[in-house]
Amino acid sequence: MDSQKMYDVIVVGSGPAGCAAAIYTSRAGLRTLVIAGLTPGGQLMKTTFVENFPGFPDGVMGPELMMNMMRQAEKYGAEIANEEAVEADFSSRPFRIFTDKGTYEGLSVIVATGASPKWLGIESEQRLIGRGVSSCAPCDAPLFRGAKNLVVVGGGDSAAEYALFCANIAQQVTLIHRRDKLRASKIMQDRLFSEPKIKILWNTIIEEIIGEERVEGVMVRDLVSGERKRIDCEAVFVAIGHKPETEIFRGWLEVDDEGYIVTRDFVKTNIEGVFAAGEVMDKRYRQAISSAGFGCMAALEAIRYIEIIRAKMGGR
Ligand code: NAP
Repeated sequence: MDSQKMYDVIVVGSGPAGCAAAIYTSRAGLRTLVIAGLTPGGQLMKTTFVENFPGFPDGVMGPELMMNMMRQAEKYGAEIANEEAVEADFSSRPFRIFTDKGTYEGLSVIVATGASPKWLGIESEQRLIGRGVSSCAPCDAPLFRGAKNLVVVGGGDSAAEYALFCANIAQQVTLIHRRDKLRASKIMQDRLFSEPKIKILWNTIIEEIIGEERVEGVMVRDLVSGERKRIDCEAVFVAIGHKPETEIFRGWLEVDDEGYIVTRDFVKTNIEGVFAAGEVMDKRYRQAISSAGFGCMAALEAIRYIEIIRAKMGGR
């Protein structure tokens, strides 16, 4: 990677939003650098089978989908740096992004750093991710069709949505929440309470996820009575919130109280020439396809922005 070279577009992040953006900007002939981050390909690299990405009637493995997206961006000339962005400087133009290996300059920046699911933080959870532990029920629950019991953890809208989704898949769903009240919106709560397949365990936490090769159950503790018990299940869906990866942009980009980048006109940030796409700005849809759509929008805006500044500069 040539750290002296100036790019038209620096894409920070290489999930569906970043890759889609890079495919568009590189096809438009813009010098494009993708700073791939610690997990090149993003969250889908950690999933197994993706059945809802249009164009793959037989499904596609998450890592294969992402490798193809990155290859498609490279095919049109995007450079991919397997580096981690550690700092941004948007105080003057060109913008600068610092990585663990170098400094890059760009006429525009597309922030597509995504969001990471929060995890419970127990050892067995990390060991069984992809083997029954998942942070995305719509992505992975269909793999457990007909299951006797699926566990969902959390008390927000995501947990409610996951539990309802799982109720269409499994014979029973156990929703485990650490308090005696849900945070989910009333409408979601009403749906939840009227679904007979969903059993809620209040004031309960998961102490361990049981299983060697795959999830076989969870060990839970009732926080009021102190009682511990085992619940058999085929999968555990953790829905305890997401954390947008916006740390390095704090102070430059406007973020909301949860840390998501605030955008106007879909993908424009408070700094002209800096755009945001995917789960770093979208806490509502959070799908690979919607992130790719935002990536496309950010790219089209970046292409337009660069045309304007080039016209002002009188060409290149
Ligand atoms: P959230 O609203 O932050 O809820 C997270 C839930 O996880 C809370 O109930 C919290 O418990 C629990 N939790 C957090 N840390 C935990 C831990 N370490 N152990 C156990 N439980 C833990 O997150 P979300 O449900 O992902 O929703 C995020 C945003 O997206 C919200 O604004 C939501 O409305 C929106 N959303 C909307 C929809 C929809 O409209 N259909 C769907 C999904 C998400 P406490 O309640 O005790 O804090």
